[in-house]
Amino acid sequence: MKRIATIAATIGFVLSVSANADDRFKDVKIIPQKLTSKTYMFTGAGGNIGVSAGEDGILIIDDQFAPLADKIEKALTEIQVGEPKYIINTHYHGDHTGGNEHFSHSGTIMAQHNVLKRLKSNPKIDKKALPVITYEDGISIHFNGTTMNVVHLKPGHTDGDSVVYWADDSVVHMGDLYFKDQFPYIDLKGGGSVIGYRDNVVAVLKRINNETKVIPGHGELATKADLVKFKVMMDDSINWMQQQLVQGHSLKKIKERGLPESLKSWGWSFITADKWIDTLYEDLKK
Ligand SMILES: [Zn+2]
Ligand SMILES: [Zn+2]
Repeated sequence: MKRIATIAATIGFVLSVSANADDRFKDVKIIPQKLTSKTYMFTGAGGNIGVSAGEDGILIIDDQFAPLADKIEKALTEIQVGEPKYIINTHYHGDHTGGNEHFSHSGTIMAQHNVLKRLKSNPKIDKKALPVITYEDGISIHFNGTTMNVVHLKPGHTDGDSVVYWADDSVVHMGDLYFKDQFPYIDLKGGGSVIGYRDNVVAVLKRINNETKVIPGHGELATKADLVKFKVMMDDSINWMQQQLVQGHSLKKIKERGLPESLKSWGWSFITADKWIDTLYEDLKK
């Protein structure tokens, strides 16, 4: 009897965990936005998804959280029949790779070597969710009448970031190297770097033009002008923290003094002003 009670308790626990996960994503809607005749951006919860759909089939860039996979698949079906043939992961975070296991039934997952390394080291991640093709510096995909150049940049958001450039400059998917109008999350423990992050944004700015549609990791579709604004915020943040450090202020003192007025509006629920100060301080004091 005691054993049955334990089993019941365990099942109850499992059910409540999955119920919570479902609750969290229950009301999420996957919204497709058409960018060109064969390119879409999907928003839902987690990182924005890039989609190429055409005569060769479907390719997706990132796949949000695992519980959203069915909704993502349904949204894809509304554009074009068939399941994704290729999945690119811009980096290893769960809000960009959660759907991997689901989509690996039909497609081949590609990512930079370090994405595989980091996903593999997480015992909770099923083998099916791991990238099958990995690269060091990048890979070019010739699909749906265009070429998508997937380029690995030096440590920025993590140590395995890729940006995807459409060869005709129509679209770029930046992964989490861009949070539109918000302080970015920089995963220092995952190999990220504040200066590297800013330099990667500069590298993207050099390659795109005023017509390029910029898919950020988080936030609404953007333009080169929006990305320039973001780059200026990064410069201002770095310069400001470097001044604080030269003046010998402690982290506590820096927080008391607070961010300059011009930077305050970039704070949000996840990366508040204090959290942004922590990241800048931790990485730049070295
Ligand atoms: Zn993200
Ligand atoms: Zn991320």
